[in-house]
Amino acid sequence: MLKIENLTKRYKGDEIALKGVSLEIKKGQVVGLIGPSGAGKSTLIRCINRLIEPSSGEVWLEGVNLPSLSRTKLKEARREMGMIFQEYALIERLSVMENVLSGRLGYHSFWRTFWRRFPEAEVERAFYYLERVGLIEHYNKRADQLSGGQRQRVGIARALAQEPKVLLVDEPTASLDPKTSRQVMRLLLELCREKELLAIVNIHDVPLAQAFMERIVGLRAGEVVFDGAPSELDERALTEIYGEEEWKTLQKTHQEESSLGEDSSLLYAKAEITG
Ligand code: ADP
Ligand code: MG
Repeated sequence: MLKIENLTKRYKGDEIALKGVSLEIKKGQVVGLIGPSGAGKSTLIRCINRLIEPSSGEVWLEGVNLPSLSRTKLKEARREMGMIFQEYALIERLSVMENVLSGRLGYHSFWRTFWRRFPEAEVERAFYYLERVGLIEHYNKRADQLSGGQRQRVGIARALAQEPKVLLVDEPTASLDPKTSRQVMRLLLELCREKELLAIVNIHDVPLAQAFMERIVGLRAGEVVFDGAPSELDERALTEIYGEEEWKTLQKTHQEESSLGEDSSLLYAKAEITG
């Protein structure tokens, strides 16, 4: 279980990005974190694994308060937390396989990784996840030869090969087209369910969040203003999260997308997920 208590982040220059966020997420639960640009979504997930140091507050992961850990202990704790990024964060000149294996770097000594020697079990595990994300035949390709959707699949395989307990996902589909976005989201959710992962997925696309997430948390200006099921995310809640102006603009964009025939398949995505 992950328990966040009164988490705040004040950047230099007095920008307050998080204003006392508290959240409890159970094992196996996948939470979609929505909110306008600048709401603090990225800051929140980065304060959990301390890519950004929180200013105050507590983050409990199985009895350990992450912000209080020393650097050495933090390194251990980070093995439990996989991360997936919008821009994939792959090492371009390395192969797909090497990128997946690099998820395990936290486990090995510098020299071992310098020579890129990995135990056989880890190579097998990497193959297993490459198979799961549908990239097995590309294992030896350079990362920079892949399409956006394929790159994000490598990102997913890399995070999972780390065998984390928690998955922190920052706008995984923001650089992908609508169809690829749904495929990537479906794959991500399928793997989370299967591995009973606790996950926080930052997502700017409201219909995508509604289609795939069982719980949605809405962030506005560093505060949680909504926490509930996708069905509870009505007009009023969305206006509260995004503000009148921005919500109207978002709605307009979604309508334009669905008039292109894109969004009808969201219903199918939803049907597939809920079984
Ligand atoms: P989101 O991911 O929801 O778009 P962010 O977490 O990136 O929001 O940003 C939250 C707020 O913190 C914004 O006002 C942003 O300008 C500010 N911020 C983010 N990163 C930094 C930084 N490194 N230094 C100063 N301010 C930052
Ligand atoms: Mg962000």
